[in-house]
Amino acid sequence: MIQIAIIGSGPSGCYVADMLAKKLPDAQVDIFDKLPTPFGLVRAGVAPDHQHTKNITRQLERILLRDNVRFIGNVTIGTDISYFEFKRHYHIIVIAIGATLDRPLNITGDTLEGVYGSGEFSRWYNGHPEAAALNPTLSQNVAIIGNGNVSLDIARLLSKRSAKLLGTDITRQALEHIHHASIKEIYIIGRRGAADVSFTPAELQEITALPNVEIIIDSTQIPEVTPSHISDDKRRNTEKNLEILRQLHASNQQHVADENNIRIHFIFSATPIAITGTHNQVAQLLLTKNRREVTGITATNEQFTLGVGTVISAIGYRTASIPDIPYDHNKGTLAHHEGRVEPGVYAAGWCKRGPNGVIPANRADAMNIAKTIIAEWEHTVSPPYKDGFAAISTLLDKRNSKSVSYNDWYKIDQAEISRAQDGKPREKFTRISEMLALLDSR
Ligand SMILES: Cc1cc2nc3c(=O)[nH]c(=O)nc-3n(C[C@H](O)[C@H](O)[C@H](O)COP(=O)(O)OP(=O)(O)OC[C@H]3O[C@@H](n4cnc5c(N)ncnc54)[C@H](O)[C@@H]3O)c2cc1C
Repeated sequence: MIQIAIIGSGPSGCYVADMLAKKLPDAQVDIFDKLPTPFGLVRAGVAPDHQHTKNITRQLERILLRDNVRFIGNVTIGTDISYFEFKRHYHIIVIAIGATLDRPLNITGDTLEGVYGSGEFSRWYNGHPEAAALNPTLSQNVAIIGNGNVSLDIARLLSKRSAKLLGTDITRQALEHIHHASIKEIYIIGRRGAADVSFTPAELQEITALPNVEIIIDSTQIPEVTPSHISDDKRRNTEKNLEILRQLHASNQQHVADENNIRIHFIFSATPIAITGTHNQVAQLLLTKNRREVTGITATNEQFTLGVGTVISAIGYRTASIPDIPYDHNKGTLAHHEGRVEPGVYAAGWCKRGPNGVIPANRADAMNIAKTIIAEWEHTVSPPYKDGFAAISTLLDKRNSKSVSYNDWYKIDQAEISRAQDGKPREKFTRISEMLALLDSR
């Protein structure tokens, strides 16, 4: 029997498992995750008020329930079980550990209190155990750096009145924290122009439709026609985004300002160059204005400051390196050639191609890597015997590490659902110890 270990139960790990389990029916596919809960960023990244997106877990759940697929949670590669141990006990290893580290701003002041990465911030409101204790400083004025959908997610969640967040699976702690913060101004800052944003029009429209939000845009920043440097594949989205921004600007002209509203400012063509603080707490963000030249974006001599007490950077992520697994320090991903890391070891998803692409993009990527694996393995008649999870389980027992099965996850899932109140779909456990205690008690 071919023993396959997939490390990481996010969409990529699940999709690869699905295809391998179908095409290699005699193989045993074990999906490991460092958390007792599966589904990666679908649970811990996707915004809690986007339950329609999170519902994809139902599809992923069916993969974990396949006969020759087994979920094993609470096992961290590189800590509980080493890479070499996985290689010793499995024929095929697919690493799908995502990209969990926030890219730092790398500017003066980026370690002050009040500076957060969007990864840790979104894990916080999503109840990821590694960020549950974040308790972020949420000042009246918040800067969000980056022009992708994650910036819009964060601005939207910080702007929604708490009643609008009921019915979502934001944690109770985050809901209360945001409710008690008296946020007034949110600045969404991009280094390039309005035509270059990576927002999807639907997400942009969503934030602009919030009843208690005023959008502030400098109309001179919105080009009248789509600039020629925009590539054909991006042109449609760009045109829609620019149209939304133009309409917003026009409707704001007739708007009567309401001091209870939150004002979201879109600031284009600006790069943060320093954060200054008082008593180790963020107080100001210093930016330089940029202009587009034939060769690309260039900084000008013009600078300005924003008085903010919170800075959230949403400028990308890196994969965490794991002892002995080849790593590409330039790209911040695993080192691989077309998904092959070493003989018998493959990479999939964000740890392979970097933090780009929505959930469905991982399916296509998973399909490609599964095809590569199947082509290399389907004619292997009698691979050397490997004992797979039997050996891993013995090692975990020796190390007093408790792994979590699919049935255990099911109990956690049901307990989260049954303790939810106020129309919430679930109230997540935010500590691994709570989850394990629940399992011990049943
Ligand atoms: C804040 C945010 C919001 C997003 N919102 C959307 C959205 O609304 N819609 C959309 O389509 N896409 C969204 N995306 C993108 C989407 O989440 C990714 O495309 C997708 O999750 C990548 O899948 P993955 O399996 O490669 O990585 P992940 O989903 O990150 O899964 C990696 C898994 O590996 C596990 N792991 C990590 N390290 C180890 C280790 N050492 N040992 C064992 N296990 C480990 C993790 O616990 C995790 O379960 C969002 C991304 C972010 C960051």
